Amino acid sequence: MLEIKNLHVEFKGKEILRGLNLNLEPGKINALMGPNGSGKSTLAHVLAGDPKYNVVSGEILLNKKDILLLNPTDRAKEGLFLSFQNPVEIEGVKIHTFLRQAYNSVHGKKLSILEFNELLEKKASQLSIPKEFLSRYLNKGFSGGEKKKAEILQLLVLNPKIAILDETDSGLDIDSLKLVAEGINSFMNKDKIVLIITHYKRILQLVQPDKVSIILNGKIVLEGNGELVNELEEKGYEWLDKK
Ligand code: ADP
Ligand code: MG
Repeated sequence: MLEIKNLHVEFKGKEILRGLNLNLEPGKINALMGPNGSGKSTLAHVLAGDPKYNVVSGEILLNKKDILLLNPTDRAKEGLFLSFQNPVEIEGVKIHTFLRQAYNSVHGKKLSILEFNELLEKKASQLSIPKEFLSRYLNKGFSGGEKKKAEILQLLVLNPKIAILDETDSGLDIDSLKLVAEGINSFMNKDKIVLIITHYKRILQLVQPDKVSIILNGKIVLEGNGELVNELEEKGYEWLDKK
Protein backbone atom coordinates (compact mmCIF):
# COMPACT_ATOMS: atom_id res chain seq x y z
CA MET A 1 0.00 0.00 0.00
CA LEU A 2 1.31 3.41 -0.96
CA GLU A 3 -0.13 6.29 1.03
CA ILE A 4 0.48 9.92 0.20
CA LYS A 5 -0.66 12.17 3.00
CA ASN A 6 -1.14 15.92 2.92
CA LEU A 7 1.86 16.39 0.64
CA HIS A 8 3.14 19.91 0.07
CA VAL A 9 5.91 20.36 -2.48
CA GLU A 10 7.69 23.43 -3.79
CA PHE A 11 9.72 23.91 -6.91
CA LYS A 12 11.96 26.99 -7.04
CA GLY A 13 9.97 28.56 -4.21
CA LYS A 14 6.60 28.01 -5.86
CA GLU A 15 4.12 25.69 -4.19
CA ILE A 16 3.05 23.04 -6.68
CA LEU A 17 1.53 20.25 -4.62
CA ARG A 18 -0.79 21.74 -2.03
CA GLY A 19 -1.92 19.10 0.42
CA LEU A 20 -2.24 16.14 -1.89
CA ASN A 21 -3.76 12.92 -0.55
CA LEU A 22 -3.71 9.70 -2.54
CA ASN A 23 -3.89 6.02 -1.59
CA LEU A 24 -2.75 3.34 -3.98
CA GLU A 25 -3.66 -0.23 -3.13
CA PRO A 26 -1.99 -3.43 -4.29
CA GLY A 27 -3.73 -5.25 -7.10
CA LYS A 28 -5.24 -2.02 -8.36
CA ILE A 29 -4.73 -0.01 -11.50
CA ASN A 30 -4.94 3.68 -10.70
CA ALA A 31 -5.27 6.52 -13.16
CA LEU A 32 -4.24 10.09 -12.42
CA MET A 33 -5.70 12.72 -14.70
CA GLY A 34 -5.70 16.49 -14.63
CA PRO A 35 -4.96 19.57 -16.70
CA ASN A 36 -1.48 20.63 -17.83
CA GLY A 37 0.54 22.11 -15.02
CA SER A 38 -1.60 20.64 -12.25
CA GLY A 39 1.34 18.79 -10.69
CA LYS A 40 1.14 15.25 -12.07
CA SER A 41 4.77 14.98 -13.16
CA THR A 42 5.86 16.78 -10.00
CA LEU A 43 4.16 14.07 -7.96
CA ALA A 44 5.81 11.34 -10.05
CA HIS A 45 9.26 12.91 -9.59
CA VAL A 46 8.75 13.39 -5.86
CA LEU A 47 7.73 9.75 -5.50
CA ALA A 48 10.91 8.70 -7.28
CA GLY A 49 12.98 11.00 -5.04
CA ASP A 50 14.07 13.71 -7.46
CA PRO A 51 16.06 16.14 -5.26
CA LYS A 52 15.06 19.16 -7.41
CA TYR A 53 11.73 19.26 -5.63
CA ASN A 54 11.40 20.50 -2.09
CA VAL A 55 9.05 18.43 0.05
CA VAL A 56 7.81 20.98 2.57
CA SER A 57 5.51 18.70 4.53
CA GLY A 58 3.45 15.55 4.34
CA GLU A 59 4.21 11.85 4.21
CA ILE A 60 4.74 9.16 1.62
CA LEU A 61 4.37 5.74 3.20
CA LEU A 62 5.10 2.48 1.43
CA ASN A 63 3.71 -0.33 3.58
CA LYS A 64 3.78 2.11 6.50
CA LYS A 65 7.45 2.91 5.91
CA ASP A 66 8.35 6.53 5.21
CA ILE A 67 10.12 6.54 1.86
CA LEU A 68 10.85 10.28 1.92
CA LEU A 69 13.92 9.36 3.95
CA LEU A 70 15.25 7.14 1.16
CA ASN A 71 17.36 8.20 -1.82
CA PRO A 72 16.18 7.31 -5.35
CA THR A 73 18.31 4.13 -5.52
CA ASP A 74 16.93 2.81 -2.24
CA ARG A 75 13.40 3.64 -3.36
CA ALA A 76 14.01 1.59 -6.50
CA LYS A 77 15.24 -1.26 -4.29
CA GLU A 78 11.96 -0.97 -2.36
CA GLY A 79 10.23 -1.64 -5.68
CA LEU A 80 9.39 1.81 -6.97
CA PHE A 81 9.67 2.45 -10.70
CA LEU A 82 9.00 5.67 -12.60
CA SER A 83 8.62 5.89 -16.33
CA PHE A 84 9.49 9.47 -17.25
CA GLN A 85 7.31 11.76 -19.31
CA ASN A 86 10.49 12.92 -21.04
CA PRO A 87 13.08 10.13 -20.91
CA VAL A 88 16.68 11.38 -21.06
CA GLU A 89 19.10 10.41 -23.80
CA ILE A 90 22.28 8.74 -22.60
CA GLU A 91 25.07 8.77 -25.16
CA GLY A 92 27.49 5.87 -24.87
CA VAL A 93 25.29 3.60 -22.72
CA LYS A 94 23.62 0.77 -24.56
CA ILE A 95 20.14 -0.36 -23.57
CA HIS A 96 21.22 -3.88 -22.67
CA THR A 97 24.12 -2.68 -20.52
CA PHE A 98 22.00 -0.07 -18.79
CA LEU A 99 19.19 -2.50 -18.05
CA ARG A 100 21.50 -5.26 -16.81
CA GLN A 101 23.18 -2.88 -14.39
CA ALA A 102 19.82 -1.52 -13.25
CA TYR A 103 18.48 -5.05 -12.81
CA ASN A 104 21.49 -6.20 -10.81
CA SER A 105 21.40 -3.07 -8.66
CA VAL A 106 17.68 -3.15 -7.93
CA HIS A 107 17.50 -6.89 -7.28
CA GLY A 108 20.90 -7.23 -5.62
CA LYS A 109 21.73 -10.07 -8.03
CA LYS A 110 24.49 -10.69 -10.50
CA LEU A 111 22.98 -12.16 -13.61
CA SER A 112 25.57 -13.04 -16.23
CA ILE A 113 25.37 -11.27 -19.56
CA LEU A 114 24.02 -14.46 -21.11
CA GLU A 115 21.36 -15.00 -18.46
CA PHE A 116 20.32 -11.39 -18.58
CA ASN A 117 20.14 -11.23 -22.36
CA GLU A 118 17.78 -14.18 -22.37
CA LEU A 119 15.41 -12.30 -20.05
CA LEU A 120 15.81 -9.06 -21.99
CA GLU A 121 15.16 -10.61 -25.40
CA LYS A 122 12.04 -12.36 -24.12
CA LYS A 123 10.60 -9.09 -22.84
CA ALA A 124 11.67 -7.19 -25.96
CA SER A 125 9.91 -9.65 -28.21
CA GLN A 126 6.76 -9.24 -26.13
CA LEU A 127 6.83 -5.57 -27.15
CA SER A 128 7.90 -6.31 -30.75
CA ILE A 129 11.20 -4.55 -30.11
CA PRO A 130 13.84 -5.91 -32.51
CA LYS A 131 17.03 -7.38 -31.07
CA GLU A 132 19.25 -4.81 -32.81
CA PHE A 133 17.44 -2.07 -30.95
CA LEU A 134 18.87 -3.36 -27.66
CA SER A 135 22.39 -2.41 -28.73
CA ARG A 136 21.49 1.21 -29.33
CA TYR A 137 22.44 3.98 -26.93
CA LEU A 138 19.63 4.60 -24.44
CA ASN A 139 17.03 6.89 -25.97
CA LYS A 140 19.63 8.44 -28.31
CA GLY A 141 17.82 9.48 -31.46
CA PHE A 142 14.74 7.46 -30.49
CA SER A 143 11.39 8.62 -31.77
CA GLY A 144 8.88 9.66 -29.11
CA GLY A 145 7.13 6.30 -29.43
CA GLU A 146 10.39 4.33 -29.24
CA LYS A 147 11.31 6.10 -26.00
CA LYS A 148 7.98 5.15 -24.49
CA LYS A 149 8.36 1.53 -25.57
CA ALA A 150 11.86 1.47 -24.11
CA GLU A 151 10.38 2.66 -20.80
CA ILE A 152 7.89 -0.22 -20.80
CA LEU A 153 10.71 -2.61 -21.65
CA GLN A 154 12.44 -1.33 -18.50
CA LEU A 155 9.26 -1.93 -16.53
CA LEU A 156 8.93 -5.52 -17.74
CA VAL A 157 12.59 -6.33 -17.21
CA LEU A 158 12.96 -4.71 -13.79
CA ASN A 159 9.56 -6.01 -12.64
CA PRO A 160 9.12 -3.54 -9.75
CA LYS A 161 6.28 -3.54 -7.20
CA ILE A 162 4.99 -0.09 -8.01
CA ALA A 163 4.93 1.38 -11.48
CA ILE A 164 4.31 5.07 -12.04
CA LEU A 165 3.83 5.70 -15.73
CA ASP A 166 3.89 9.38 -16.65
CA GLU A 167 2.18 9.87 -20.00
CA THR A 168 3.60 6.64 -21.33
CA ASP A 169 0.79 6.58 -23.89
CA SER A 170 1.62 9.96 -25.43
CA GLY A 171 3.04 9.77 -28.92
CA LEU A 172 2.42 6.06 -29.42
CA ASP A 173 0.86 4.79 -32.63
CA ILE A 174 -2.13 2.47 -32.27
CA ASP A 175 -0.14 -0.77 -32.58
CA SER A 176 2.50 0.39 -30.11
CA LEU A 177 -0.19 1.56 -27.71
CA LYS A 178 -1.73 -1.92 -27.79
CA LEU A 179 1.64 -3.55 -27.10
CA VAL A 180 2.32 -1.14 -24.27
CA ALA A 181 -1.13 -1.79 -22.80
CA GLU A 182 -0.62 -5.57 -23.06
CA GLY A 183 2.75 -5.10 -21.39
CA ILE A 184 1.18 -3.23 -18.47
CA ASN A 185 -1.59 -5.82 -18.14
CA SER A 186 0.93 -8.67 -18.15
CA PHE A 187 2.97 -6.88 -15.48
CA MET A 188 -0.07 -6.51 -13.23
CA ASN A 189 -0.92 -8.97 -10.46
CA LYS A 190 -2.48 -8.86 -7.00
CA ASP A 191 0.69 -7.52 -5.37
CA LYS A 192 1.48 -4.76 -7.85
CA ILE A 193 0.46 -1.14 -7.87
CA VAL A 194 0.15 0.79 -11.11
CA LEU A 195 -0.40 4.52 -11.44
CA ILE A 196 -1.09 5.64 -14.99
CA ILE A 197 -0.79 9.37 -15.56
CA THR A 198 -2.57 10.26 -18.76
CA HIS A 199 -4.72 12.73 -20.64
CA TYR A 200 -6.39 10.13 -22.79
CA LYS A 201 -9.22 7.67 -22.57
CA ARG A 202 -7.59 5.44 -25.21
CA ILE A 203 -5.09 3.75 -22.90
CA LEU A 204 -7.65 3.44 -20.12
CA GLN A 205 -9.88 1.39 -22.41
CA LEU A 206 -7.01 -1.06 -22.86
CA VAL A 207 -5.76 -0.99 -19.26
CA GLN A 208 -8.90 -0.57 -17.20
CA PRO A 209 -8.46 1.49 -14.06
CA ASP A 210 -9.98 0.45 -10.75
CA LYS A 211 -9.72 4.01 -9.50
CA VAL A 212 -9.43 7.37 -11.23
CA SER A 213 -8.14 10.40 -9.31
CA ILE A 214 -8.34 13.94 -10.60
CA ILE A 215 -5.68 16.47 -9.70
CA LEU A 216 -6.26 20.18 -9.96
CA ASN A 217 -3.87 22.85 -8.71
CA GLY A 218 -1.79 20.37 -6.75
CA LYS A 219 -4.62 18.59 -4.97
CA ILE A 220 -6.81 15.57 -5.62
CA VAL A 221 -10.27 17.06 -6.05
CA LEU A 222 -12.29 14.04 -7.11
CA GLU A 223 -12.00 10.26 -7.22
CA GLY A 224 -14.16 7.66 -8.87
CA ASN A 225 -14.18 4.51 -10.94
CA GLY A 226 -13.54 4.10 -14.67
CA GLU A 227 -16.79 5.92 -15.46
CA LEU A 228 -15.17 9.18 -14.42
CA VAL A 229 -12.98 9.02 -17.53
CA ASN A 230 -16.04 9.32 -19.77
CA GLU A 231 -17.39 12.17 -17.72
CA LEU A 232 -14.09 14.05 -18.07
CA GLU A 233 -14.01 13.40 -21.78
CA GLU A 234 -17.42 15.04 -22.03
CA LYS A 235 -17.06 17.93 -19.63
CA GLY A 236 -13.35 18.70 -19.38
CA TYR A 237 -11.94 19.95 -16.09
CA GLU A 238 -13.54 23.36 -15.68
CA TRP A 239 -16.60 22.19 -13.76
CA LEU A 240 -14.28 20.73 -11.12
CA ASP A 241 -12.85 24.15 -10.40
CA LYS A 242 -16.18 25.22 -9.00
CA LYS A 243 -16.43 22.30 -6.62
P1 ADP B 1 1.71 18.29 -15.14
O1 ADP B 1 2.60 17.09 -15.23
O2 ADP B 1 0.45 18.04 -14.39
O3 ADP B 1 1.43 18.92 -16.46
P2 ADP B 1 3.96 19.48 -13.72
O4 ADP B 1 4.07 18.72 -12.46
O5 ADP B 1 4.92 19.17 -14.80
O6 ADP B 1 2.46 19.40 -14.26
O7 ADP B 1 4.11 21.03 -13.41
C1 ADP B 1 3.41 21.69 -12.37
C2 ADP B 1 3.91 23.11 -12.28
O8 ADP B 1 5.24 23.10 -11.80
C3 ADP B 1 3.94 23.87 -13.58
O9 ADP B 1 3.58 25.19 -13.32
C4 ADP B 1 5.39 23.74 -14.02
O10 ADP B 1 5.77 24.82 -14.80
C5 ADP B 1 6.14 23.70 -12.70
N1 ADP B 1 7.32 22.83 -12.77
C6 ADP B 1 7.41 21.56 -12.31
N2 ADP B 1 8.60 21.01 -12.55
C7 ADP B 1 9.31 21.94 -13.21
C8 ADP B 1 10.64 21.98 -13.75
N3 ADP B 1 11.50 20.95 -13.63
N4 ADP B 1 11.02 23.13 -14.37
C9 ADP B 1 10.16 24.17 -14.46
N5 ADP B 1 8.92 24.20 -13.97
C10 ADP B 1 8.49 23.12 -13.34
MG1 MG C 1 3.42 16.07 -16.77
